[in-house]
Amino acid sequence: MSDPRKYQFNLPKKGRPSRIGLEEEWYPEIHKYYGKCTSKRIYHPINGIRAVVIHATAGGSSVGAASVIKAGRASFHWLVPDEDEPQHGHFVWATAPEKLAAWHVRNSTSHPDVFDGHNKVNHFSLGIEVVNTQKSSDEFSDWQIQTTARIVRYCWAKYPNLKHVVSHAKLDPRRRKDPGTNFPWQDFKKLVLVGDEDPVPKLVSIATPASQIKETDFHGNCTG
Ligand SMILES: [Zn+2]
Repeated sequence: MSDPRKYQFNLPKKGRPSRIGLEEEWYPEIHKYYGKCTSKRIYHPINGIRAVVIHATAGGSSVGAASVIKAGRASFHWLVPDEDEPQHGHFVWATAPEKLAAWHVRNSTSHPDVFDGHNKVNHFSLGIEVVNTQKSSDEFSDWQIQTTARIVRYCWAKYPNLKHVVSHAKLDPRRRKDPGTNFPWQDFKKLVLVGDEDPVPKLVSIATPASQIKETDFHGNCTG
């Protein structure tokens, strides 16, 4: 069985995509909240980005994941919807501005394989949360993996010093296991490195207004 605490690969110098589009929509009203749980980066917001951290929510819904931001407890840059959500197959949620450090990894944690062991990972990284309960029966969908890979390719094209793609579990192995054993890390790595040149389907406007999203039970979030 794959061990999420070992999930990492580094982006090669050759093969950087030139420009990658991303189908994203701002999560409804999230701009009212992310200011409480993001920081000004201590590194340059473009040249200082070294890593993308892959998370899974440990909850079953985008609403649950976004509630953590609304509570001001933690944050991340993108949220990849689950199969049973209407956005699945269409677009990802943007949940914090890339230029700000989101709070998705504890400041004290670090790993020698990631930016020479610097801590304060949030300041040199971007965070992606994939909605998944982290139960053994909950498989990630192909679209979730393809889309997570696409976000990484988008970042690779945009950030010249981006090198590390790493799991939260590797950075904080005592506390975190996400994105979990079901996350097909090797398939994901291939999708990032080789790319999926199929055109992204045109954005269909199906975003559910926040007022119509039903609060579902939420079992906590991996972040922070
Ligand atoms: Zn996490």
